[in-house]
Amino acid sequence: MTTSQVQKKLQVRQLRKTFGDLVALEGADLDLADGEFLTLLGPSGSGKTTLLLAIAGLNEPDSGEIHIDGRLATFLPSYKRDIGMVFQNYALFPHMTIFDNIAFALKMRKWPKDKTTEAVERVLEIVQLPHVATRYPRQLSGGQQQRIALARAMVYEPSVILMDEPLGALDKKLREQLQLEIKRLHKELNIAVLYVTHDQEEALVMSDRICLMREGRIEQLGTPTELYFRPRTLFAADFLGEAN
Ligand code: ADP
Repeated sequence: MTTSQVQKKLQVRQLRKTFGDLVALEGADLDLADGEFLTLLGPSGSGKTTLLLAIAGLNEPDSGEIHIDGRLATFLPSYKRDIGMVFQNYALFPHMTIFDNIAFALKMRKWPKDKTTEAVERVLEIVQLPHVATRYPRQLSGGQQQRIALARAMVYEPSVILMDEPLGALDKKLREQLQLEIKRLHKELNIAVLYVTHDQEEALVMSDRICLMREGRIEQLGTPTELYFRPRTLFAADFLGEAN
């Protein structure tokens, strides 16, 4: 293993995924550095979720490789990958308290009780909801529930956090508030985040780099400034550039 592989939190090489005749993903190459915020952006059906689910171990690619924290993970089961996940519809368990919802992932990993309590209390502080541990999900607002989903994804300090349209179900005001919150958490904790959205503005304000996708392929990968001012194709210009 080379040094550069160790420093990368995530490496995707030539990933391909088909559903019958449909090529959902083709030749996907991606690197995510420690502490980087990378966004997969593209219209509906461009392959963003397919790529994220392959990294999460929730769908199996036809070919290609996935390395997480320098370790080959292409065919590891999801729970053995060092990742946290926040999805739009990744619901909390309704019959469990907020504490138990967050502690669940640690219990599955056989963490001792005292360490678990400490970690859950810490992440509740981080998402600024220290007082809700004994409540149930239905007693929280949509925005609060999504912050708990964030807390749950980061409680075991995974190498990479995957987020698929985590704010998609929220109204505009709350979405903007949580965008700031996610950015703050990302900066404070220096976690590597792979984020999915179809919202150009969200991608431009949140990302260190944007990976623009089109019909299962990576169209352009670069900083928000590069994509905005120097789109390489008409599609990129149309979807994201200043001409938009
Ligand atoms: P995006 O997340 O960018 O909206 P997806 O990754 O969900 O795109 O989908 C990419 C393509 O793969 C689409 O054409 C979609 O219809 C297809 N697809 C995704 N998942 C499945 C599946 N489980 N079975 C069949 N086709 C699928």
